[in-house]
Amino acid sequence: MHVMKHMGDGGHEQVVFLRDAGAGLTAIVAIHSTMLGPALGGTRMYPYATEEDALRDVLELSRGMTYKAAAAGLPFGGAKAVIVGDPSKDKNDRLFGAFGRFVNRMNGLFHTGEDVGTDASDMDVVRKETRFVGGASPEHGGAGDPSPVTAYGVVHGMKACAAERWGQDSLEGRLVAVQGLGKVGWALAELLLQANATVIGTDVDQNRRKQARKRLCIRTVPPDEIYDVPVDIFAPCAMGGAISEHTLPRLTCEVIAGSANNQIAGADVPRAILERGILYAPDYVINAGGLINVHVELHGYHRTQALTLTREIDSRLREIFAVARRCGIPTSVAADRIVEQRLTDAREALRYTGWSQSTRA
Ligand code: NAD
Repeated sequence: MHVMKHMGDGGHEQVVFLRDAGAGLTAIVAIHSTMLGPALGGTRMYPYATEEDALRDVLELSRGMTYKAAAAGLPFGGAKAVIVGDPSKDKNDRLFGAFGRFVNRMNGLFHTGEDVGTDASDMDVVRKETRFVGGASPEHGGAGDPSPVTAYGVVHGMKACAAERWGQDSLEGRLVAVQGLGKVGWALAELLLQANATVIGTDVDQNRRKQARKRLCIRTVPPDEIYDVPVDIFAPCAMGGAISEHTLPRLTCEVIAGSANNQIAGADVPRAILERGILYAPDYVINAGGLINVHVELHGYHRTQALTLTREIDSRLREIFAVARRCGIPTSVAADRIVEQRLTDAREALRYTGWSQSTRA
């Protein structure tokens, strides 16, 4: 894989390869942009089959983080780290300690937190070596799992969708399909029930479905049937790629709004969503609550402040819907345009003021 070419194509600033043989650490940090501030992004641990797979993933994910931070109005750029390894058997304190020392050496250019394959206990170890980490457990001075805040943001995003589609932001009486009853999906289901919506859930984990029936008292369906359930809102909260040319024709909902990253699979899908008359809440806008939580944590955590900032997802979506409506374009395209304009404005400001992350550090 030609690293420099891929960096050029994606507009990445820096890629750092990390290796500590003694600690069993092989990792890559990709800094996509520091245009709006230091680069922020979680650390993923995954048993990548090849170095190329790891590199491709970290480049793509770090670019997405730039968009997510910019869309949320945060003073952060985008980055991501990937650790090559199996989280079920390769985790140990030595590995995360070595990773933390590398992060510390980057001296604030890169801030990280948990992601797929890592959790608060791993961030506790990283935090022993560096202050440039969020998502550590409350006992170690962190804000803990950001998932409930992500779910809180998704509910507020759904309210913006309801206002756009049905003229009022209440979710009362709405039927919502939640795909994936994990950390975010479960918390989302609880918030929806509190808002007097009806929830139908699914998960590939049969035990999760059983627990949801028992503890949340909701109806569940097998994973593949969730696309066919007639609902008002479809909430993808599992893996990426849930909305594709194969699944979209099966959906009868009027709104798609959920927490999963990279929900849309296929270049033609955004237009197809628009043509089917479905309102789509762009994933990186509606699922920014967790990132906002980490941002607040890095400045001294206050839950109220995290929730207040997360509620702004509502107005950010309304702005995107208005642009999409005015221009007749998919909402995901409108979101990209708004973000890209924000980055262009920052670049222009840099040209005039000479400000940059490196001069600020
Ligand atoms: P999680 O691993 O806790 O939950 C995901 C759940 O989805 C699991 O219970 C899993 O069994 C289930 N699942 C997997 N594939 C499925 C399928 N095909 N059909 C139904 N269920 C399936 O993860 P999470 O932290 O809840 O995150 C959910 C999604 O939201 C992910 O895409 C994640 O990247 C995204 N996200 C999470 C956060 C956060 O704060 N946790 C923030 C932003 C985005």
